[in-house]
Amino acid sequence: MKRDLIVGRMQPVHKGHLNVIQETLDEVDELIIGIGSAEKSHTLSNPFTGGERVLMLTKALREYDIDPSKYYIIPLEDIACNSLWVGHVKMLTPPFRKVISGNALVKQLFAEENIPHKQPHLFNREEYSGTEVRRRILNNEDWQSLLPKSVVKVIEEIKGIERIRNIAQKEVSEIAYEKKTNQN
Ligand code: NAD
Repeated sequence: MKRDLIVGRMQPVHKGHLNVIQETLDEVDELIIGIGSAEKSHTLSNPFTGGERVLMLTKALREYDIDPSKYYIIPLEDIACNSLWVGHVKMLTPPFRKVISGNALVKQLFAEENIPHKQPHLFNREEYSGTEVRRRILNNEDWQSLLPKSVVKVIEEIKGIERIRNIAQKEVSEIAYEKKTNQN
């Protein structure tokens, strides 16, 4: 059985993630999709909860007509100790052959445990990136075209745009308050 693992924070799930998943599914029998930093939410770099990202991914895979018997979605919480992370991931996932990731730390940690790694092809990385999606949301630019339609719907349903803008305002006022306090 060829079963591989892909890990991503997916804040939010975008078309780049779906392209890598589709491409990988052509080469394997089954794919484990680990949602990284599952415990994080309500910050500018991690606005969505693990559960909301499960919802985005489930709907997007359905939109792309991907056979549900071919994948497992597993939320993965971060741990403080990087050197133990691969064991933590293995404990929570079905057995797998190799990991697919473009993230340098992920590659390094799996290589140290002698688990093979594959670099995914990059799909329009300048635009298909969580950072770019979140930037466009804050700047009132077109973010919708970077995401599967079903993910746009989930973000609307959970009032994700208001959340990101509120968090941005809160973080800006906290920085201003800290600056003022430091000056006094
Ligand atoms: P991400 O959502 O940015 O990317 C997920 C994957 O998709 C990556 O492999 C990336 O290369 C690929 N990708 C993204 N955009 C693409 C595009 N346009 N075209 C092709 N591929 C694209 O997530 P990430 O930051 O790589 O996620 C790693 C996760 O592992 C994080 O949640 C991190 O916290 C976790 N981690 C945790 C520990 C720990 O807990 N100690 C240690 C290492 C990593």
